[in-house]
Amino acid sequence: MRWIRYLIISILPFAVSLTNGADKRPNILFIMSDDHAAHSISAYGSKVNTTSNIDRLAREGIKFNSCFCVNSICAPSRASILTGKYSHKNGVPVFNTFDGSQPTVSKYLQSAGYYTGIIGKWHLGSQPTGFDYWSVLPSQGVYYNPAFLTQDGRKVINGYVTEIITDLSLNFLKNRPKDKPFFLMCHHKAPHRAWEPNEKYKIEFAKKVIPEPPTLWDDYSTRADAIRNCKQKVFYDMTRRDLKLIPPANLSPAEKNKWLSTKPTSVEIQVDGKTNILTGIELNKYKYQRYMQDYLACIQSVDDSVGVLLDYLDKEGLSDNTIVIYTSDQGFFLGDHGLYDKRFMYEESLKMPFLLRWKNGVKTGVVEDSIILNIDFAPTFMEIAGVKIPDDIQGRSFLPLLKGEHPDNWRTRFYYRYYHDPGDHNTAAHYGMRTLTYKLIYYWKLDQWECFDLKNDPLELKNFYNDKDKQPIVAKLKQELYKLKKEVQDNDEFAYKQPPHGVDGRTFSAPVKFDPYQK
Ligand code: CA
Repeated sequence: MRWIRYLIISILPFAVSLTNGADKRPNILFIMSDDHAAHSISAYGSKVNTTSNIDRLAREGIKFNSCFCVNSICAPSRASILTGKYSHKNGVPVFNTFDGSQPTVSKYLQSAGYYTGIIGKWHLGSQPTGFDYWSVLPSQGVYYNPAFLTQDGRKVINGYVTEIITDLSLNFLKNRPKDKPFFLMCHHKAPHRAWEPNEKYKIEFAKKVIPEPPTLWDDYSTRADAIRNCKQKVFYDMTRRDLKLIPPANLSPAEKNKWLSTKPTSVEIQVDGKTNILTGIELNKYKYQRYMQDYLACIQSVDDSVGVLLDYLDKEGLSDNTIVIYTSDQGFFLGDHGLYDKRFMYEESLKMPFLLRWKNGVKTGVVEDSIILNIDFAPTFMEIAGVKIPDDIQGRSFLPLLKGEHPDNWRTRFYYRYYHDPGDHNTAAHYGMRTLTYKLIYYWKLDQWECFDLKNDPLELKNFYNDKDKQPIVAKLKQELYKLKKEVQDNDEFAYKQPPHGVDGRTFSAPVKFDPYQK
C-alpha cells in the first residue's frame, strides 16, 4: 500500500496550495559543517566546549544519538546525502568527480516547486546541479578571503569563511521568492583541517586547557594493524603547519613550505619569559592542546552562525514552518585513540551529530536512539516535500521517527564501507557492520578483522574477534554482514582505486573512471 501513502502525501500539499493560494510545505534549512564531531557539541555531552546555539536545536527539537555515515569522508558523505545512495551506487567512493546528471534531493525538491540553494563547501568536483542558486568554495576552500564559484563566475570575498557563508545564506533567505518553500544547504568549511579560527576565538581558545579524552594514549593492543599503520596520529603525524608554529625568518617560500610540512621532534615555547623546550610526553600533550584549541575555536564561529540564522528565522516569523537541521558530513577523532581525522569505523568518526527543529512538526526536547544514516536525509526531505521516493534510493525516510512513531521494522544494523586507501593518511580500506550492540570491521587488504562489544566496551578498546569463547557471536555477525552487503548490492570484493591525487575539485574536471582491482 506504499503507493497510496505516496499518492496522499504527494497530493496533500498541492491541494492545500490550491485552496488558500499559498504553498504551506515546510522550508528546509540544512546546516552542515565539515568534520564536526558530535562529542564537541554540548548537547551531546561535550567535555571540551560549549555550543549554546547548536544546543537550541536539541532543546527546541529532536536530537538523534545514532546518526551515522556510510563512508566516513568528506566527498563520499556529501554524495550520499545528495543521492540517498551508498558510494558504490553514486560514483563517489573516494574523491571522484560527482556525476551531476544523476538524480539528487535538490533536483527532486526543485522539480516539486521548492526554491533550492547551496552555499559553502561542495567538494564534489562537478558544477552543482538542481540548485536555483549556488555559491560554493572551490575544492576545500580557504578560511581567509575565500574564493567562491558562482553562477556569475569566480568571486573572492574578503573576510572569514564561516561569517561569509552565514552572510550569503542570509542573502539567500532575504532574496528568495516568497511564494515558494525553500531548501537551503548551508555548508560550512569549518572546522576542517587546517583548523584556522578567526582572531577573536583564536586568542580566547589559546588560553584554554582542554581535557584529554580517555583513549588519547591507547596502545592498540588487541587491534588490527590498520590503526597502528595509519598516519593520522596526533602525536606522530601533525605537522608544524597543523600546530601553527612560526617558521624562522628569511626562508624562501619553498623552504618555508618544507619547514611547515615536516613534523617537529621538539618545540620551543615561552613560559613566564623563559624558553621551554618540549620533547617526548610534554610535546605530545602540547600537540593535543594546540590541535584542540584551534579546532574548537573554529567550531565557535559555526555555533555563532547557527545563532544568526535562527535569530533571522525568528525575526521574520519563519521559525514555525522551517525545519532547521544541524549536522556534519562525518564525525572526527578529537585525540580519541590518539587520532585526528576520520575514515575509520570507530564511533567518533562514524557518528554524525544530527539535530532537527520543526516547531510545526516535532515535539521539543526529544531524544531519539534509532539508527539513521546520511543516505536517509534525501528520502526524508522528499517525503516532507511530498515527493514520491523512487525505489533505487537506498536510504529510508525517517519522517515517522520525527512524528514520534517507531516502526517495528526500523533498521537495527547497517553496512559501512571506506575506500580511500592509502589516501592521505595510510588508512586501510575496510567494510563492516554496526548493530545496536556490536561492530564488525574487515580490513580486507590486510585480511584482518575487528569486533567490538559496544555495550560493555563503548570506547572500543577490546577487539574480541580472536577470542575463543566469542566465536559463535563472530560467526553470526559475519553472516549478517554479508547479508547486508548483498542487500545494499555491494556485490563484490573489489575496491576502487583512488584517482590521481588532485582530482578533488580544485577545478571542475572530467569524471574519473573507476579502475577496480582484485583483492
Ligand atoms: Ca568532512
